[in-house]
Amino acid sequence: MLHLDGLSKTYATGEAALSDVTLTVPQGQIMGLIGPSGAGKSTLIRCINRLVEPSSGKVILGDVDLARLGKAELRRQRRRIGMIFQEYALVERLTVMENVLSGRLGYVPFWRSLLRKYPARDIQTAYRLLDRVGLMNRADSRADALSGGQRQRVGIARALAQEPELLLVDEPTASLDPKTSRQIMRLITEICAERGLPVIVNIHDVPLAQQFMQRIVGLRAGRIVFDGAPADLTEAA
Ligand code: ADP
Ligand code: ADP
Repeated sequence: MLHLDGLSKTYATGEAALSDVTLTVPQGQIMGLIGPSGAGKSTLIRCINRLVEPSSGKVILGDVDLARLGKAELRRQRRRIGMIFQEYALVERLTVMENVLSGRLGYVPFWRSLLRKYPARDIQTAYRLLDRVGLMNRADSRADALSGGQRQRVGIARALAQEPELLLVDEPTASLDPKTSRQIMRLITEICAERGLPVIVNIHDVPLAQQFMQRIVGLRAGRIVFDGAPADLTEAA
């Protein structure tokens, strides 16, 4: 479970990007974050993994307040959060398998020989994940040989390889065509349910959010203006 309590962020510029956001995402719930550009969606996601330092408030994952951790402990705790990005953020010159394994390693392997020393168990896990996302037969392809949709599948497998307790997904389909977008959203939704993970998706495409999210939180000027079922979403958000 993820619990945000009074989370606020004011940037050095004086911009109050997030104001007193309180919400709980239970296990197995997929929550979509919507709102106009500048509403604070990226800031919210980044405050959770502390790519942005919150100005105040709590970020409680399980029983740890991530907002209070020192650097070393934060590095350890970040491993509990899986990230999926709009532009995939794969290492293009590495293979699909190597990209997925990098999720378990916890950093990008500049030394390929490191990957060759992987325990068989980790390799098996990676193959199982590639099978789950439908890319078993592309394990040895270089990441840059794949289509956008395939790359995002690798991104999903990599995030899962670290066995996260929370998934943060930042505009996963912004670079994909509508059909591929739906396939990717369906996959993320299924995996959230299978693993019982809390998932937050920054999703600017409202129809897509309404089709796939169990819950939608609407942000405007850094505040929650809607929190409810997709069917109840009106013009207000
Ligand atoms: P969204 O993801 O909904 O488009 P953001 O979280 O990116 O919104 O931005 C929220 C507000 O905070 C915007 O007004 C934006 O200009 C501002 N902002 C975002 N990042 C920074 C930053 N690094 N420094 C100063 N202001 C920022
Ligand atoms: P997004 O598409 O995620 O909203 P943007 O294109 O708005 O991202 O912002 C790109 C980068 O610039 C981000 O790292 C964001 O934090 C930063 N940024 C956004 N707005 C501002 C701002 N007003 N001042 C400084 N940095 C900003």
